[in-house]
Amino acid sequence: MTDTLTPILTKFWDDPQSWTLATYERHDGYKALARALTMEPQAIIDAVKDSSIRGRGGAGFPTGMKWSFMSPPDGGPRYLVVNADESEPGTCKDIPLMMANPHSLIEGVAISSYAIGCEHAFIYLRGEVVHVYRRLLRAVEEARAAGHLGDNVGGKGVTIDITVHAGAGAYICGEETALLDSLEGRRGQPRLKPPFPGAAGLYARPTSVNNVESIASVPGIILEGSDWFKGMGTEKSTGFGIFSLSGHVANPGQFEAPLGITMRELIELAGGMRGGKKLKFWTPGGSSTPIFTDEHLDVPLDFDSVAAAGSMLGTRALQVFDETVSVVRAVARWTDFYAHESCGKCTPCREGTWWLRQIMNRIEAGQGTQDDIDKLVDICDNILGRSFCALGDAATSPITSAVKYFREEFEAGMTTPAHELFPPEKSVLF
Ligand code: NAD
Ligand code: SF4
Repeated sequence: MTDTLTPILTKFWDDPQSWTLATYERHDGYKALARALTMEPQAIIDAVKDSSIRGRGGAGFPTGMKWSFMSPPDGGPRYLVVNADESEPGTCKDIPLMMANPHSLIEGVAISSYAIGCEHAFIYLRGEVVHVYRRLLRAVEEARAAGHLGDNVGGKGVTIDITVHAGAGAYICGEETALLDSLEGRRGQPRLKPPFPGAAGLYARPTSVNNVESIASVPGIILEGSDWFKGMGTEKSTGFGIFSLSGHVANPGQFEAPLGITMRELIELAGGMRGGKKLKFWTPGGSSTPIFTDEHLDVPLDFDSVAAAGSMLGTRALQVFDETVSVVRAVARWTDFYAHESCGKCTPCREGTWWLRQIMNRIEAGQGTQDDIDKLVDICDNILGRSFCALGDAATSPITSAVKYFREEFEAGMTTPAHELFPPEKSVLF
């Protein structure tokens, strides 16, 4: 089974001091940058396009296409902004990547910046992770001292520098335009799109906003070639990705594997279900994606197959819940989260998530009313597709999918509290 794994980004995370420049260079670090600097910027964009890599932040938009959508150079500044505001419940791949191997991201930023004509890139980091902030600052200093960043990168007269910016802990600042507002010093709220950031992003200049894992994958594509990358994964979801297994598996953690691996294989790689319990439900891409059950264990985890099965691959945040867990209680916690994180800009999400939270908490307490399930579904229907950004839609996904697969648990919530149906002491997580 371990042949299924493709440790590339995670290859030497277990090395002592894996985060230092010396370790990275021992593993061919910055060789891709040296090669990239011998190439024309357009050739780098073409290689990334040819690899067909799709964004690893959740939406799966083709990275090379995003770069080529940027307005043509006009002599003014252009920006690369790395979205490192990883905050999706269950998602935990970018933070370990930046802790274990920050130079893979920095090398990716340097190559990508050179490709799109950016001289000053930003890494927008989730503010709560102070340890990652320190590690990135140190790694940027090391890279600058070694000539991998600065005014004369690789002795080629190319200027590339990086500012690491820590946000203030709002989930909405992971939405790319809210992130840009926050970076500009404003309250982070989503902007109207279009214009997309490629046309008018940071300081109204052409900007590419890319996920940490997407950018950290670029050095491999440059060094090994786009055919190497396309040789893994599926035809429309090429390459590899970090799958984060959390919850009721024996050995939770990061499993780097080709896209298209199944949950059944991943659970086996994680040592099976904890305590030999039965799987009840799981999320393919964090709490924003409709839940799956044991019916979906053989769905290939690529963008299209997961969508065809009724969910989204998202950030490959595979949260596993066994038979001891109340789906109502789990969904109620996610709903609390979305109601708390709603930025308040648009009415369907601001008001709707508040109503969803009241009803979910009522059902969890065993005090639901006869029409609560219909109300939940109706409110979700009025949020979905009517909200200003993806947060509103995301809040509805766990609810509508849980009602679809576990309606009887919601019905039981009209008379019996979740803690009686699923005593927390019998469950590891709740
Ligand atoms: P989106 O589909 O609107 O956009 C994805 C990317 O493609 C953006 O960068 C956007 O600018 C670009 N794009 C889309 N259409 C374009 C066009 N016509 N021209 C140019 N560029 C275009 O999705 P989104 O709202 O940016 O992101 C939603 C995703 O974020 C969800 O799938 C979710 O899984 C993920 N998410 C991730 C986290 C996390 O912690 N990593 C947190 C919350 C949500
Ligand atoms: Fe803000 Fe929610 Fe509207 Fe997004 S959907 S703009 S988070 S209120």
